[in-house]
Amino acid sequence: MLKDEDRIFQNLYNDRGSDVDSSKKRGDWTNTKDLIEKGRDWIINEVKESELRGRGGAGFPTGLKWSFAPKEVGSRPHYLVINADESEPGTCKDRDILRFEPHKLIEGCLIASYAVQAHICYIYIRGEYFIDGEKLQAAIDEAYEKKLIGKNAASTGWNLDIYIHYGAGAYICGEETALLESIEGKKGQPRLKPPFPALIGLYGCPTIINNVETIAVIPTILRRGGKWFASLGREKNTGTKIFCISGNVNNPCNVEEEMNISLKELIEVHAGGVIGGWENLQAVIPGGSSMPLIPKEKCETLTMDFDSLMAEKSGLGTAGIVVINKDQDIIKCMARIARFYKHESCGQCTPCREGSGWMWRMLERMAKGEASRDEINMLGDVTNQIAGHTICAFGEGSSWPVQGLLRHFKKEIEKRNNLNPIFDKDKNIPYLVDQHLLDKKDA
Ligand code: SF4
Repeated sequence: MLKDEDRIFQNLYNDRGSDVDSSKKRGDWTNTKDLIEKGRDWIINEVKESELRGRGGAGFPTGLKWSFAPKEVGSRPHYLVINADESEPGTCKDRDILRFEPHKLIEGCLIASYAVQAHICYIYIRGEYFIDGEKLQAAIDEAYEKKLIGKNAASTGWNLDIYIHYGAGAYICGEETALLESIEGKKGQPRLKPPFPALIGLYGCPTIINNVETIAVIPTILRRGGKWFASLGREKNTGTKIFCISGNVNNPCNVEEEMNISLKELIEVHAGGVIGGWENLQAVIPGGSSMPLIPKEKCETLTMDFDSLMAEKSGLGTAGIVVINKDQDIIKCMARIARFYKHESCGQCTPCREGSGWMWRMLERMAKGEASRDEINMLGDVTNQIAGHTICAFGEGSSWPVQGLLRHFKKEIEKRNNLNPIFDKDKNIPYLVDQHLLDKKDA
């Protein structure tokens, strides 16, 4: 378990105050000037040394991303954009940073802006987080008042203005290029990449886009050193992480823990256990609804980091853990998730626009026991026709949960739909047969 002195977010439960004075008591804003005076290269190298990977879902190395910003500022200004869209079902960690630890984020914005040479930072907050946005705005106003941002921010000589931009509730605006389109006042639809935002981003200018949690941990990493952060967790999966645990648990919560912690410990110790006991566990979605689910047998020994979960054909994603116990109808759960993705597809690519609806409708039929035997394999084919064939990663995000269901709960679908595997003697392989046809033959 993470030691208290290694905890970065000390006000995650809002028991120590989120205002600037309380934040300073916890160490925020203490030597920002000294950190910035060490220079851009030192900051970027320290972040690289920490092996911090983006906390928004993709897990891209942060220091490397920053190093993609042009070394010199040319005719176009640089921008820093913070992704606070947090629309992935099961995820609610950035919200608690916005409202309870806003100064960690604001100080991180100043340091990151300096590192990538941006004088303007936009924080893109999902529309539903209006109250949290107000809290963040109050903290930004406080920071301006105390001269921590604005002209000569925190006496560093660097000028920084921070603006909040509210989205209107579209999931896809959490995709970084759709987010940029949305800030520009256009329909939030992803752009084709390349060009990548680091070179051509907001208003066609070099732009670095990072998640809230990623930026909020930067000041502590620099204060305590990249090596300290890298000493937590395991190689390439370092540091601490806020895990959001929800679903069928006794105590849904957000908790900061060391990377590579065991899933069972997170659920049993921090979330009060599965409702109905550990034996009542059916499956877990480990990283927000777009990550493939993992059945109970694998949850016994699973550890929570990017690479461990990838090895299980799933992913850490946003670390939004959704626990599903045996009281739930797993096929219905996945049909509901598929419906969400069908609704949120931006509609630009045919495989995603049409396929997300196909997956939902087929899963609805399967949940009701009305699917025919061809449909199980067909559903797998549809997911493969979507993933990897679209403009943005939404294609994968909508197909992976369905693939997870087929991978681990195919028998459940067969049983529900009265499909029994029988043995094909000629080919020496089992194949599926529709029980309705067998019944007809017997009659
Ligand atoms: Fe839009 Fe889906 Fe294509 Fe992404 S994959 S651009 S969400 S249609």
